[in-house]
Parts: sequence; C-alpha cells; structure tokens
Amino acid sequence: MTTLSPPATIAFIGLGMMGRPMAARLAEAGFTLRLYDLSQKAVSDFIGAHPSALATASPKAAVQGADAVITMLPDGKAVRQALIEGRDAAREGMAAGTIAIDMSSSNPVDTQKLARDLAASGVALLDAPVSGGVKRAIDGSLSIMVGGSAADLERARPAFAAMGKTITLCGPAGAGHALKALNNFLSAAGLMAMCEALVVGEAFGLDPGTMVDVFNTSTGKSNATEVKGRQFVVPRNFAAGFTTALMAKDLRTAGEVARHLELNVPMLQQAVDYWRDADGKLGKGADHTEIFRYAEMLAEKKG
Ligand code: NAD
Repeated sequence: MTTLSPPATIAFIGLGMMGRPMAARLAEAGFTLRLYDLSQKAVSDFIGAHPSALATASPKAAVQGADAVITMLPDGKAVRQALIEGRDAAREGMAAGTIAIDMSSSNPVDTQKLARDLAASGVALLDAPVSGGVKRAIDGSLSIMVGGSAADLERARPAFAAMGKTITLCGPAGAGHALKALNNFLSAAGLMAMCEALVVGEAFGLDPGTMVDVFNTSTGKSNATEVKGRQFVVPRNFAAGFTTALMAKDLRTAGEVARHLELNVPMLQQAVDYWRDADGKLGKGADHTEIFRYAEMLAEKKG
C-alpha cells in the first residue's frame, strides 16, 4: 500500500464552496487531479485556475488510474450515489487497494455501511469531514476529523496535510462523521444564542457591534462571536459561505445519531427543529448566518 504523496493521482468529486479551495490546495501541493462534479461549470472554473487538472465525465471516469478518490458532496446520500449506486459510479472503476476518502459531512451510520460495502471490493474508506469553513479551506488550515484505520490515515496523511492543520484520528469508520455532526451542534447552538442575544440587546438599545466586542472579551465568547458576529451578522452581509440547508442537515444528522442510540437529548432536538424551520422560512441558498434574520422574525412574532 503506497502513501498518497505528490504527484499521486486523486479523483476529486464535488467542487463546491469547500471542494474548490480544498482541491486547489492539493493541486498546489503537486497532486495530479481528475475532477468530477454534476456542475460542468464548477469543473471548468476550477480548470481555468488550475490547468493541470483533468475534467472527467463521471465518477467512474474520474477514478481511472487514481490512487484515491475524495468526495466533498452535500451529504452521505450524494456520496453513496457517486461511489456505489449512481450511474457510472466510482466503484466500477476503482482498483482493489485504492482508498476512498469522504470529506463531506455525512451521516455516520450510513458511513459504517458504506465502509463495509467498499471493503467488499477491496477499497478502504476514511471518513474525514472538516471544520473551519471556506476561509480555512483556502489557507489550508482546516480541522480534519478522521474515522477509519490508523494505517489508512497514515497513507492519506500527505493529502490531509495539504488541506488541513489539525488531523485527528477519532476512531473507526463513522467516528469522524459523528464528531463533525456533534461539533456542528455546538457551532449552531452558539450561533443561535448569539443571534438571540443580539435581537434582545438591540431592542434594549444596545449597539450590536459593541455587544459582539464585549462578548469577545468576556465569557460569552464563542466561534460565532469571534468569526461570525463582526464579519457577517452585524454588517448583515451574511456571506460566510455555508448554507442554512447544510447546517440543518448536520443538525438532523446529530439528532439521528442520538435517536439511533435511543438517547433523550432535548436541547439537540430543539436545535434540530429550530434549524429545520429556519431552512424552510429563509429560502433556498440562504447563508447559515441568516439565522439572525430568523431570530428577528421569531422575536417579532412573540412580541
Ligand atoms: P456546495 O453545495 O457548495 O458544493 C457541493 C458540490 O457538489 C456542488 O458543486 C454540486 O454540484 C456537487 N454535487 C452535488 N451532488 C453531486 C453528485 N451526486 N455528484 C457530483 N457532484 C455533486 O457545498 P459545500 O458548502 O462545499 O459543502 C460540501 C460538504 O462540506 C457538505 O457536506 C457540507 O456540510 C460540508 N462542509 C461545508 C462547510 C462550508 O463552510 N461550506 C464547512 C465544513 C463542512
């Protein structure tokens, strides 16, 4: 089993908000890229900036001769389509001994099944979801949460090192995806709390910028107050680059894991319901920081 070092060939599937900068880091590190995305524009835009990468017509074509396939897709269902179930799926073209790395935020229970199904074809799976958003994808400082075997992580480490700064082996298949969903529960809860605090504070006459500055030097500090308050919520540009729909999906995933384990976790359930409703009300494509607008809508309703 060879290590995934440049110029090894990686099939990269999913060139969206996150996939594009992550694949760019791999190209800049010297990896050979074969690309596939349902959106031809996403692929051609990428090749415009990185002409050494090759466009392909399907996941099966992308993995021809590749040492690994990386998926960065909306959810585990899209990953399963691309790797196993869709037309011209990657598995049809993958040689035994290659490695599949799912960096999407997928459902960990589905990931456990995917790992078993791929293992039957001699393909190892690592789940390796990321945290840090578009900004840290661009500068290659993502936090990468890995599920799978330590040996497979070592094989993939050079590719991870091109995209991330913190690489943590969380446990066997699915462990990375479980931790990612729970991380986003905390992230979403912090953002909800900040937004409600801002709504109440503004109604009281406080300046929202001052509030965020004080949170950041006080015990209310969180990722939301530090990297979303002054940047996206206070100026109301809502341009973080992560949609409400994807955050709602991550919350749903965390809720499904808890239900699978028959655990009663009321705060998590409340967050699941809150984000599901917000996703419906804020409209397609809304940034997750627009949860502030949703908090404003709810506050008005109650007032
Ligand atoms: P995105 O919607 O911007 O990109 C998804 C890409 O996948 C699109 O280019 C789309 O055309 C393509 N696609 C969808 N289904 C496909 C299929 N079956 N085959 C091939 N291509 C397909 O999403 P994103 O924001 O880049 O997020 C990707 C994943 O990363 C999600 O699981 C998300 O939850 C996670 N994530 C996002 C962020 C963020 O800040 N945006 C941060 C951490 C994790």
